Amino acid sequence: MSDIDALELTLNDWYILFADWKEQKFRANQICQWIYAKKTFNYHDMSNLSKDLRTRLSENVLMTLPILIRQQNSKDGTKKFLWQLNDGSRIESVLLNHGGHKTACISSQAGCPLGCIFCETGANGYRRNLTRGEILGQFLLMEKMNGDDINNIVFMGMGEPLLNEDAVFSSIRSLNDKNMRNLGARHITISTSGIVPGIEDLADFEIPIRLSVSLHASNDELRNKLMPINRTYSLQRLIDSLRRYRDRTGERITFEYALIDRVNDSAEYAYEIAALLDGLEPYINLIPFNAIPSHPELKRSEPSRVKDFCRALDELKIQFELRKEKGSDISAACGQLAGSL
Ligand code: SAH
Ligand code: SF4
Repeated sequence: MSDIDALELTLNDWYILFADWKEQKFRANQICQWIYAKKTFNYHDMSNLSKDLRTRLSENVLMTLPILIRQQNSKDGTKKFLWQLNDGSRIESVLLNHGGHKTACISSQAGCPLGCIFCETGANGYRRNLTRGEILGQFLLMEKMNGDDINNIVFMGMGEPLLNEDAVFSSIRSLNDKNMRNLGARHITISTSGIVPGIEDLADFEIPIRLSVSLHASNDELRNKLMPINRTYSLQRLIDSLRRYRDRTGERITFEYALIDRVNDSAEYAYEIAALLDGLEPYINLIPFNAIPSHPELKRSEPSRVKDFCRALDELKIQFELRKEKGSDISAACGQLAGSL
């Protein structure tokens, strides 16, 4: 058995392999249809391929998938999946259901090296980047279990996707490719804590996916405390890179802001946000802060404070949405994913 693994192969890798095997190119497309569209992972079930090719594939190309360790179903329709990878690392993914529309929230790293204080993923340390196959495997298995197509994918699970650019970009190319999963660019979102070089690369990325930025604080002093990455990429540098991104792509950027009681929820901060993001036409997702075991002192904002914050944003004519929490009864909400490393 070789060490080639099906989900690690891009479409072009399949073409190269099949040229080497003296197989016709369209056979590679057929295999990618089986895997990415029909979620058929057993070569022997790929009925439009010859028996010889199926045997050759099963002898030469591994089909490694994450192993499902546990599935939890929330009262609100959210599902959380705990997977084990080849090296024993455990990661989580979440399937969200908004009125019939399904969104897969996918991990890009086992753990996260960035240690934001409000996030359980960061509190549990960092093991490694995921490969493109491990990223795609989460999505394809969830889609197979779901039965119907999943409409959206968001890189908002464990890890910082822009610290694992090669694998993340490669997986997105395959999700988007017409010969593979054929998922529209507008249905794919990367969320970043503010990795400036990654944002620059995203501005040049050929697929116009959506970008979401985890802001959570409107000045460096507070953001340095909440998100240590801010000491490397200050708000000024982050905002400059987002302006370039917006100029180059014309894309509107979404900002995530979790309201933490008496930490970042004073209405004054709404004014700072407006000044900071001036000219960017931001869209802000206000997320209810989800409690995490590693920092029990951090609490969700009181409703009256949320109201004041929203009123200030309204007055400033900043577009925002107050999100409802999803899946917190099974610790599947934003920032609660921990897996176990
Ligand atoms: N590392 C990337 C991708 C992870 S996305 C990023 O940080 O953007 C996870 C999202 O959940 C981010 O917007 C993050 O800021 C947010 N989050 C983390 N901990 C949270 C918590 N305890 N409550 C609410 N949102 C949280
Ligand atoms: Fe990492 Fe994002 Fe969690 Fe921060 S919020 S620790 S960057 S996963």
